[in-house]
Amino acid sequence: FTQAQNEQDAQTLAVQATAQGLTGQERIDFLISNMTIEEKLGQLHQMAGGRQKNLNSRLDDGEFDRVRQGKVGSYLHVAGAGPLEELQRTAVEESRTGIPLLFAMDVIHGYRTIYPVPLALAASFSDEVGQSTARIAAEEASAAGLHWTFAPMIDIARDPRWGRIVEGAGEEPYLSARMAAAQVRGYQGRDLTAPDTIIATAKHFGAYGAGEGGRDYNSADISERTLHETYLPPFHAATVEAGAGSVMVAFNDIGGVPATANAPLLQDVLRKAWSYDGLVVSDWNAVLELTNHGVAADRVGAGTLALEAGVDMEMTSGIYAQDLAEAVRGDETLQASLDDAVGHVLLAKDRLGLFDDPYAYHDTDREAAVMLSEEHRAVARDAAVKSMVLLKNENQTLPIREGAGRVALIGALADDPYSPLGSWSAQGSSGDVVTIRAGLEAALPEGVRIDYVPGADARSMPDRRDLRDAVRAAERADVAVLVIGEDWNYSGEARSRSDITLPAGQAALAEAILATDTPVVVVLMNGRPLDISSLDAEADAILETWFLGVETGPAVASVLFGEESPGGRLPASFPRRTGQVPIFMGHYPTGRPADPDLENDSSRYTDVDITPLYPFGHGLSYASFDYAGISQDTQTVGAGGTITISADVTNAGEMAADEVVQLYTRDPLATVARPVQELRGFSRVSLDPGETKTVSFKLRPEQFAYWGQEGAWRVDAGEIRWMIGSTSADIRGEGSFTIEEGVTADEPA
Ligand code: BGC
Repeated sequence: FTQAQNEQDAQTLAVQATAQGLTGQERIDFLISNMTIEEKLGQLHQMAGGRQKNLNSRLDDGEFDRVRQGKVGSYLHVAGAGPLEELQRTAVEESRTGIPLLFAMDVIHGYRTIYPVPLALAASFSDEVGQSTARIAAEEASAAGLHWTFAPMIDIARDPRWGRIVEGAGEEPYLSARMAAAQVRGYQGRDLTAPDTIIATAKHFGAYGAGEGGRDYNSADISERTLHETYLPPFHAATVEAGAGSVMVAFNDIGGVPATANAPLLQDVLRKAWSYDGLVVSDWNAVLELTNHGVAADRVGAGTLALEAGVDMEMTSGIYAQDLAEAVRGDETLQASLDDAVGHVLLAKDRLGLFDDPYAYHDTDREAAVMLSEEHRAVARDAAVKSMVLLKNENQTLPIREGAGRVALIGALADDPYSPLGSWSAQGSSGDVVTIRAGLEAALPEGVRIDYVPGADARSMPDRRDLRDAVRAAERADVAVLVIGEDWNYSGEARSRSDITLPAGQAALAEAILATDTPVVVVLMNGRPLDISSLDAEADAILETWFLGVETGPAVASVLFGEESPGGRLPASFPRRTGQVPIFMGHYPTGRPADPDLENDSSRYTDVDITPLYPFGHGLSYASFDYAGISQDTQTVGAGGTITISADVTNAGEMAADEVVQLYTRDPLATVARPVQELRGFSRVSLDPGETKTVSFKLRPEQFAYWGQEGAWRVDAGEIRWMIGSTSADIRGEGSFTIEEGVTADEPA
């Protein structure tokens, strides 16, 4: 007996559970009931590896000891099938619990094959692009031993001064929700136990994008209505609809309550109203930051608040694991919170299949085979083409055709292999990037030659001689392609700007080139909507390319040289002037007339038009599209019913091109003010010249729920107006229908 008992004691808890035939929730319950408080707290601890490019620098002997002692549940910023397998083996075979580790990283727009930044992906208005790119990221990341990515970021961003607007899908909840769901499906695949899938994280919960003044980490002092109607729907889509396995809590406070200690948000909304059972992780050091917010006096206070509020795993600050054992021991409520949190961590591990095969993600052959494959580059290239937005094109300056003669390619960004990687480039490398210059030079049509001149470094003022060379090149050329904007480091985390005009050196270069008589095509590279009113006034054509990833060059070449037509649309409005922001489509009407044509419109500034420079959904094509047969299939719709709105869209141009058909609605009468325009559907369709396709959108009355004064969702009977068109401002047809009495909704999904 003693020997048998000893043998059993020598087995890890996980092995004992398996020996008893336990799986799923039973296994989790068994583990929890046999773990010490310290082991439980260890599971909630997420340690940082090294810095981005030096990922595993912390994995020394001390780290292996920590794992052996069960003091850690997860690592972030580590990678590599080989080294992570070693660490995993230590957890599984040498710790008392035998619980496998979770390995995580910010795989934001690609792991090794870097594709367009998220704001650019949103500009594709394509679920397919969102899903296929996330899929290749998951294939590569999982092959490097990772289980979990901190993406997608789905924070609505209505203030382009905020640097992190580049990481999300822009200003609009419906588009963000669609992109969020598509990306989650791409990362997680059909079955999370498959070793090429990773857990997606919906972040940052919530209202991180609403920081006052667009300053990062700042307070979001927004109404409950705005929170529910604008900031939370993408999270609902990512979690409830698409099944994201994880949610990351935001740094900011909402109306004074830090998200990290926000029980109403984490418990009442996420866990109760949405029945969410995934893993809730804090942001970097955010539990400790509760002391900076001034809601906790010390580490124990901060840890207690976060654990009670429902933060399961603590990223980096280590309070749970180091400081909370005593507090938990004396407090039954906290013990219950601890068990809940551990349950969520173990469930995530179970969903990945790690209890059954802890090494499935550590296959060095697969790791060697998948990185930056031709197939992955092709996906990145297609996404890059689809993400570009043609903002302006006078006199058919674009495309540049055969026989166009001399092209002056001007601007350091054209030859910069770093900027196309954008913010967060995981294991991407500048050596993998085909720059715009290289892309154009490799794809020159007959009768076109290129002279490249940098003109100015992307971050400094041009010196006189460089400027003179650039102007001369432009003067000698038949067309100038001016590649300017913000380099990659102007946007991203902690990269807010008070002024979103072009950096001064770039503006000076643009001014000099635009003063020549040569037609100028501006190719923009940037991670946010910019104030480019002066470019808009002078340039002949403007192509927005954001940061397009490793295939930037070939993609830009194919659009500039007319092999493919641009078809992307703006996911966020471009202001006429920084002082206009926030300016976005879905604002409320004011009491004064909101018609921009009325001079007495009191909500306008006296020194600038009330409209944005380019509205939400704007984007031109080399083709043109006719809309006909615009119709609806019913006049009234009741609970559980649907209404279908359709249009026949024809490519009236001379080349194959994509049109993004957009459906908007307005609720003209409710118990509270409702947005003047809301996106309700979009469809990106490819059409050959002369081809017609019927595009239909199905709406359910439950989608028209809004957050009533009573603090709950409600649907009113009455009229809804709809508008179908090519952008939010280019409406080709409209109509209305009536919602019948008796429609209710828990969530306007
Ligand atoms: C960011 C998160 C990110 C985390 C881990 C934080 O600073 O806000 O979005 O996932 O760092 O790198």
